[in-house]
Amino acid sequence: MAAEDVALRLRDAGLRVTAPRLAVLDVLAENPHSTADTVASLVRATHGRVSTQAVYDVLAACTTAGMLRRIEPAGSAARYETRTGDNHHHLVCRLCGRTTDVDCVVGSPPCLVPGNTAGYLVDEAEVVFWGLCPDCQRIPPRVVKESP
Ligand SMILES: [Zn+2]
Ligand SMILES: [Zn+2]
Repeated sequence: MAAEDVALRLRDAGLRVTAPRLAVLDVLAENPHSTADTVASLVRATHGRVSTQAVYDVLAACTTAGMLRRIEPAGSAARYETRTGDNHHHLVCRLCGRTTDVDCVVGSPPCLVPGNTAGYLVDEAEVVFWGLCPDCQRIPPRVVKESP
């Protein structure tokens, strides 16, 4: 996304346009599903000096404003992405943590219908499919050394 478009989206979301916000959104557009620490190091590598706390602040503000989606696969650090509002799901690799989008099967939220909603008005579904990514499937099983 061009910097002007990102600036426009920030203003639409009621957020001030700041260099750290532009940098974080730029990095996440290129590297979806990154953790806060990864975002911080990528921002520093490509946009210069930004403190980790500033990155955390930007992630929190943009998530609250609906510009970022935060996903929290069990046992993993929270990950962020710029793809919001479409209720898509995720495939997560058990070995390397690689995360891949799965489009909503029905097209609009919630894209899964529970067997019983127990009276709840359901408006969103969040599914994590766990398994091994193609790269990790190619890793040969660890050879166990036999004792002499
Ligand atoms: Zn993997
Ligand atoms: Zn995603």
